[in-house]
Amino acid sequence: MKGLAMLSIGEIGWIEKERPACGPGDAIVRPLALAPCTSDVHTVWEGALGDRHNLILGHEALGVVDEVGSAVRDFKPGDRVIVPAITPDWGTEAAQRGFPSQTGGPLGGWKFSNTKDGVFAEFFHVNLADSNLAHLPEAISLEAGVMLPDMLSTGFAGAENAHIEFGATVAVLGIGPIGLSAIAGAKLRGAGRIFAVGTRPAAVRVAKEYGATDIVSYREGSTVDQIRKATGGAGVDAVIIAGGGPDILADAVNVAKPGSTISNINYFGQGSGDEDILPLPRVGWGYGMAEKNIMTALCPGGRVRMERLAEVVMHGRMDPSRMATHIFRGLDTLEEALLLMKEKPRDLIKPVVIIEQ
Ligand code: NDP
Ligand code: ZN
Repeated sequence: MKGLAMLSIGEIGWIEKERPACGPGDAIVRPLALAPCTSDVHTVWEGALGDRHNLILGHEALGVVDEVGSAVRDFKPGDRVIVPAITPDWGTEAAQRGFPSQTGGPLGGWKFSNTKDGVFAEFFHVNLADSNLAHLPEAISLEAGVMLPDMLSTGFAGAENAHIEFGATVAVLGIGPIGLSAIAGAKLRGAGRIFAVGTRPAAVRVAKEYGATDIVSYREGSTVDQIRKATGGAGVDAVIIAGGGPDILADAVNVAKPGSTISNINYFGQGSGDEDILPLPRVGWGYGMAEKNIMTALCPGGRVRMERLAEVVMHGRMDPSRMATHIFRGLDTLEEALLLMKEKPRDLIKPVVIIEQ
């Protein structure tokens, strides 16, 4: 089979590999819709995970089941499925403690395009199919459904972790597809005022549709000054970090009220190794005592998460297809779609590749 792989840091290309083998609890799936992620960009062009060779990329997919193992009960060949970006080992100690995304060590639930070949291929392998696949409801379009495995799951995790109370003021730093999903999640969680920080016009439009009440451009002055001024100096009850480099942490802490939560879903992919330090503002953080608490999350995965996100979409709570700004057709267009995600033109939110089966 062919797949689009990271050949080495900064280099991608199509390669041939053996079709993966199916264990008793597993499934082999063919892609129906795929989307490149900014995390693929971190992986390839920033070498965030190290120098991987011939690792098939991609972790955002809808698919059609091609084969299931003998122990799989709820799925059969031909079923249309949502494939979570994160496919935990549900029997592990970390999963039983309530942290399934971290099974097998930090970020260990993230297997596709990290510790095994990803979904940008003619076939891909899904571990624990009954726990990690969800049926794709007919009512959900491919453009909408392909946002569930990562964009909605991660963005909503940002809002869940931010402990948003009814009427709370929230700042979402970064309004790519992750930040936009976080805005939609913050609104569903009952936020009052929502500041959206970003500049891409397409994203600004969707931010307003999803519930942003105030748009802030970090390019036109300090984010912290602008939000502080707009809140009479108070700052916000919750911050969700969904973009930017290491300096974004200082903005988040400085714009947060004492007693607030800073919920990070950003991937700090740039750096030179294990010794790197991410900076926090000493005074803004109350010298470490202002009760400005920092939460972090890797995208939640698994079947129930996908089924619940599908409920959100099916009942009209939000329309994720609004983020699919660039639609490609056919597996061969994947490279172009991924390069678009790297270049981030001003009219882009998220490219989607539809593969007819
Ligand atoms: P995008 O690159 O599409 O969006 C980034 C956003 O951040 C843009 O709106 C950009 O503004 C904004 N931004 C850049 N610099 C600043 C700044 N200094 N202050 C405020 N905003 C800024 O990324 P995605 O939405 O696709 O992904 C966001 C992050 O989430 C990535 O790091 C990605 O890897 C990570 N991620 C994490 C996951 C997890 O499991 N935790 C899962 C998936 C992704 P502008 O509008 O000007 O471009
Ligand atoms: Zn991703």
